[in-house]
Amino acid sequence: MIYRYGIECPGCQARLLLRVSVGAEIEQPFFVVCGRCHTVIKGKQVLRYEPHPGARLEMESAKLIDPQSEGPFVETISLNPDLPARRTATQMADEGGSSFLHNAQLLGTSLVETMRRIGLFRSIVSEDGAGLRRLGNFYLNKDWQRFQEEGRRLFGKNWPEPKKEWQYHDVLPRVFLMAYHPLLIGDWFQRFVKEWSDFLSSNKARLPEQRAFAEGLLAEGRVGDLQRLVLERFDFMATHKSALLAAIPAELYEDGMEKAIAELRLPRDDFDVLKGHYVDCYELAHRVLSILVGTINVVERGHQDSFDATICAALAAKGMNNFKNVPTLAVFEDRPNGPKRAFLKSVPLCEQMWDALLERELRNAVGHYGARHDLQTGMIIVDGKPHCSYLEFVVKTIRMTHVLLCLLHVLKMCHIQKLLTDPAPATATSVAAKPLKNRFKKRKPKK
Ligand SMILES: [Zn+2]
Repeated sequence: MIYRYGIECPGCQARLLLRVSVGAEIEQPFFVVCGRCHTVIKGKQVLRYEPHPGARLEMESAKLIDPQSEGPFVETISLNPDLPARRTATQMADEGGSSFLHNAQLLGTSLVETMRRIGLFRSIVSEDGAGLRRLGNFYLNKDWQRFQEEGRRLFGKNWPEPKKEWQYHDVLPRVFLMAYHPLLIGDWFQRFVKEWSDFLSSNKARLPEQRAFAEGLLAEGRVGDLQRLVLERFDFMATHKSALLAAIPAELYEDGMEKAIAELRLPRDDFDVLKGHYVDCYELAHRVLSILVGTINVVERGHQDSFDATICAALAAKGMNNFKNVPTLAVFEDRPNGPKRAFLKSVPLCEQMWDALLERELRNAVGHYGARHDLQTGMIIVDGKPHCSYLEFVVKTIRMTHVLLCLLHVLKMCHIQKLLTDPAPATATSVAAKPLKNRFKKRKPKK
């Protein structure tokens, strides 16, 4: 369904015809760029169902004109606020003039799966978003009775009915895996879980020290604080689903479409809210990284403060003298985050994930006070220079979901290590490696 509107460009007074697709939201914000004077024009389409279905356009600065009135239109701009579009397409006849058809072409056989993922995530967070928030709060308050009731209400027959305390902890990442599964392209989480569980049980002689380290973290209240912060990030994603979902197709385009993809831009702008989320996820991951590295130190050298001397020396040789001597884990935490991933050498998949999903350059770029989304070009501009397209940034923001789930798993294992005599029971890890319901076939992560 498409509505047609006439507007007058506030920059050059050109008469423009807008063809706006009906999106998933009642209020659909978007922007267009005048092809003649390059003025950015912001507005939103507001749907109504009563007394009969229809829509109206609200523009920030442009004057509305009757599309049926006399006079030709200088330009026709078609847009679907929920999909990436070709920036240079201004007429329906142009390649990419219809963003839906253009996306269908780029997605090929993945079109159905893409639309299903978008629809599924939207319905999960609309129907169960509040329930998931409650479930998270009952968990953090250790109100196991209400946690159980909410879990049954949300998941019905799929709720695994946890009975012991370690099972309540075990179920939490699985709940979020199931709810956020539509956003996950690739199986980072499953591979991470396996690697971390194997690592935790790799040195039986260190199990008492591992347990003591986990107990210390729990006693400080650190694990609970970090879990709360991770759950807040999940909640943020539910609230800002429309900002994120518009970029989902870009994750699933067919190979060989790179040139076409580089020209795509999103017709909506949520940079101001999403940049904070990206930075928060990055910083949060590095707080949990201290737990990962502390655990590696314990398993390999018997104490959380015992850092790998060869890694310290290698970093110092590269000029990072901050890491030449790291006397304690507390000192490590105060050091700059960028080089810390080098200490993940013993868990190569985790290190790979850190490099692939937690980009220091992007974190610094979007965290820069002068970073902005230039709507005319669709690029993120930092210090006057383009860094990457806004679409690419949103795709990378969606990929943080993999990281958040892995963080939740690491924090869960702290509880489980404390509660169980055998810190890495086969049941806890093998169950966690699978979502409750495997709704989609697994795909290899795209480069
Ligand atoms: Zn104009």
